[in-house]
Amino acid sequence: MSEDKTDHCEERQRRKRINLYKRIIIIVIVAIILLPTLLCIILFCRLNSLQKDFSELRAYIEASERTAQAGTSSKGTGQGAGLNMENDGRVPVKDNDTADSTTDETPQESADVNVSDTENTHETESVTDDNETSGNTQQLIEQAVEQGRKVVYLTFDDGPGDNTENLLDVLDEYDVKATFFVNGHQGYETALNRIVMEGHTLALHTYTHEYESVYGSVASFAEEIITLQDYLTDVTGFRPYIFRFPGGSSNSGTPLPITEYIDYLNENNLIYFDWNVSSGDGGGDLSAQQVHDNVLNGVASNDISVVLMHDAAYRMTTFEAVPMIIESLQDMDALILPITADTKPVHHHIN
Ligand code: ZN
Repeated sequence: MSEDKTDHCEERQRRKRINLYKRIIIIVIVAIILLPTLLCIILFCRLNSLQKDFSELRAYIEASERTAQAGTSSKGTGQGAGLNMENDGRVPVKDNDTADSTTDETPQESADVNVSDTENTHETESVTDDNETSGNTQQLIEQAVEQGRKVVYLTFDDGPGDNTENLLDVLDEYDVKATFFVNGHQGYETALNRIVMEGHTLALHTYTHEYESVYGSVASFAEEIITLQDYLTDVTGFRPYIFRFPGGSSNSGTPLPITEYIDYLNENNLIYFDWNVSSGDGGGDLSAQQVHDNVLNGVASNDISVVLMHDAAYRMTTFEAVPMIIESLQDMDALILPITADTKPVHHHIN
């Protein structure tokens, strides 16, 4: 009897364990089925959310692009004009003052100087790009002359030198743009780049400025110009094409007729400028006041003046005179401009 009871208890416990195992197995099976399903549902919801975010973002980007395109189209003309302004054919010049250059560019009497009526035939990419801007400048000049205002081009020969950057600071202070006819002096790369970047005209005045080398033959004349152009292009990225003869086109130190050099310039789309007002700073030791008076007297006798000055460290009175000259010109409401490809050339009488 007691054995039966014991057997019965064992049987019940065994069944209990079996039921427990069954429950555990069922729970595990359900869990194995349910968990991935739940994960799928969660991921599906998350995917939907991300897709919605993505759609909204794409719509926003497309709308932004349309707005930007509309803005670019409407501003297109203005931007083009801005580019033209930056590349308006100005030619910076480098100064190569040596001791013997002191005597060059002797002042010309106004009577010996005329403004050429010859149309400017210079054709370069930058000139073509500059049509709109130059047209505006030409209008400005015509209006100024009609109104009795003086038009003045300040030009500085024989730089760059130790004072070029000081000169640029002064010009910047008065918001005046000038023209620098430079030579191949080394070590003034910053000044050369400032000339270009600050809106002045960088122009050519031969590499050495030495008459024997410059005027010895047309071939050496060409080499003087090309060497300087290459140097300035390397330094500034800009290739100047406006030129001034050392001594001017009326100088008497050339072994060949000046027309032979001029032919070379014309054949190579180079534009040359003389001057019709001299500051006199290429001659003796003038005071700043004398330099100023020479310039103002010259300007008074012309509608359009191209003023010769020198950018050389030893011509300190020129630097002292420049602020005085600019103030006097601004007081008389003169229009002060840099020379560009479209400026009507001033040429001396050819010998
Ligand atoms: Zn010179």
